[in-house]
Amino acid sequence: MIKHITVDGRISLPKELQELYQMDADTELILSTGEENIIMTVRNNRCILCGSTDNTVIFKAHKVCKTCVENVKKEARLIPKPTKVTYEGYLPPKVRDYHKLLLSHPGLKQEEAAKILGVSQARISKMKIKLMEIKDFLGME
Ligand SMILES: [Zn+2]
Repeated sequence: MIKHITVDGRISLPKELQELYQMDADTELILSTGEENIIMTVRNNRCILCGSTDNTVIFKAHKVCKTCVENVKKEARLIPKPTKVTYEGYLPPKVRDYHKLLLSHPGLKQEEAAKILGVSQARISKMKIKLMEIKDFLGME
């Protein structure tokens, strides 16, 4: 498109362009120059959240209207952190008891654990394997 500059240095922008870039009387245009061109960057006073041009403030290089600031204060809530997955939750109750016992008594022998938990040593041996399988499956040490 070809536009002619007026005697006092003005040009007008076609309505279609103004609509496309949501320009109005409050819109700022930043002009920068290249070798053979002038670049116009549209800086709107529109709120990035609702599009309003009323009472906008700049927050971290973005325009936000005061209504949206108030709404964010009222309605925003923290996104809860995902709960940490631990292998304890995957353990059957008896295996969990055995695991707790191992944590509180490192180096505990299987026969001692069997006595404390009131199960056979063979059962302890199976629980130990189950414990290792679950830890291995979850990629834990
Ligand atoms: Zn807004």
